Amino acid sequence: MDLAAIVQQIGYDMAAAPHRGVVADYIPELKRVDPSQFGLAVMTADGQTYHCGDADVRFSIQSVSKVFTLALALGRMGDQLWTRVGREPSGHAFNSILQLETEHGIPRNPFINAGALVVTDAILAGHPPRETLGEILRFVRAAAGDDNIHINPDVAQSEEQTGHRNRALAHFLLANANLINPPELTCGTYFHQCAIEMTCLQLAQAGRFLMGGPNAPRLVSPERVRRLNALMMTCGHYDGSGEFAFRVGLPGKSGVGGGILAIVPGRASIAVWSPGLNERGNSQLGTLAIEHLARATGWSVFG
Ligand code: GLN
Repeated sequence: MDLAAIVQQIGYDMAAAPHRGVVADYIPELKRVDPSQFGLAVMTADGQTYHCGDADVRFSIQSVSKVFTLALALGRMGDQLWTRVGREPSGHAFNSILQLETEHGIPRNPFINAGALVVTDAILAGHPPRETLGEILRFVRAAAGDDNIHINPDVAQSEEQTGHRNRALAHFLLANANLINPPELTCGTYFHQCAIEMTCLQLAQAGRFLMGGPNAPRLVSPERVRRLNALMMTCGHYDGSGEFAFRVGLPGKSGVGGGILAIVPGRASIAVWSPGLNERGNSQLGTLAIEHLARATGWSVFG
């Protein structure tokens, strides 16, 4: 298999793709991003890297950060976290509040916004947000083996100014005794973690610990790697998770910045980015590119 040629071809195809989706506009700073961009980076378990397009351009990882905070929270408090958040796909939009009322403030899973707020709240646990953000950044940098990863303060501030749905979710969690810290602190920390910027090359590098196997960096136990992948597969694309599993067949986590991290267990870590989103808030071309890659390589967890 000529992976270099496959990746190059995907770069050409995506540059010519007519339907590029719509850039997220509810966070004003994200709306300014040029939708014509596309990047892809693939890192294999044997240490090879393949990339094309804008793979070295930084973008806002947004909800892809939820994978790292979940790994961190599980490392901190283990299975106790599951008393506060579930492990079922929600079938609802990432920012929906509907189920939170009927399900008594226990979010369906750690990747919808309500669940991610609980995870961040658990890591925060009375510490100053600055310290917790330092801890999150240290984890991501260690995973990537690269200290040149930062939070974009303008994106964080932009979401601070407009993140009323997330505040509503946090207050709803508090009303159900499922928030430990003041909502402002949990939301502020969450907005900043979402504003972490990375390139596809850095994100693919940071995702290697999720490949598992003898060559992957061992940041969490093999059992936890399997479970993180299971959650990415079932919940990583919100109400588009079934479609992503059907089309791609790999665990993946998307963000409204247009990034997707996908894992081929034991074989590769893939990061793709294109800012235009589909109607579920997942990268339009990012999904298409990983679908092409999975088809061309035969990579799938379903055999
Ligand atoms: N920061 C975004 C939000 O909370 C993250 C959502 C996403 O990437 N799906 O709305």
